[in-house]
Amino acid sequence: MNFLEERIQKDGIVKEGNVLKVDSFLNHQMDIELFKQMGEEWKKRFADANINKILTIEASGIGIACVASDYFKAPVVFAKKSKSINIEGDMYIAEVESFTHKCKNQVIVSKKFLGPDDHVLIIDDFLANGCALQGLISIIAQAGATVEGIGIAIEKGFQSGGRVIRNLGYRLESLAIVDSMDAETGQITFRQ
Ligand code: 5GP
Repeated sequence: MNFLEERIQKDGIVKEGNVLKVDSFLNHQMDIELFKQMGEEWKKRFADANINKILTIEASGIGIACVASDYFKAPVVFAKKSKSINIEGDMYIAEVESFTHKCKNQVIVSKKFLGPDDHVLIIDDFLANGCALQGLISIIAQAGATVEGIGIAIEKGFQSGGRVIRNLGYRLESLAIVDSMDAETGQITFRQ
């Protein structure tokens, strides 16, 4: 088991509805030493990629993206969730359905901060059905920028997102892939 799998095994809580709670080290209280290990690992895995920007989505992606930014020496842009319809022309807009909150949000990024010269690493905390990633990929496409790679902390391998994103040809590096989890027993199995 790697460092993140060990931590999930120790402190992760399996909830009903295929939700893994990692509030004590990732989603609410944040373990910055762990985030540094994650940033270092992504930097190793994307060592050959030419990355000049990191894109994430609020809120939980921001902390890990900021720490990763220290390893890539690239600024972080986060997509903002906005309930209102944004008709201004200075924003890229995508629709994202929230897995955990079961609602639809528009996510927006200012055109000032993403453009054709950008080579982007997407960072997020979880990958479930891939909706958040598809929204971020759409925003990068609207900007004429390039997706160099995608770094995910925890991929739930029993949901479809990882397969879909890999089949689209993206370079996806998940630090922990959960193959199964059981809310009754609390058991979590990782992909080898
Ligand atoms: P997707 O769009 O891939 O279906 O879901 C990804 C987003 O939903 C992530 O950004 C994350 O915030 C949230 N999410 C999905 N599954 C889980 C989960 O099991 N636990 C937590 N804490 N968040 C999740």
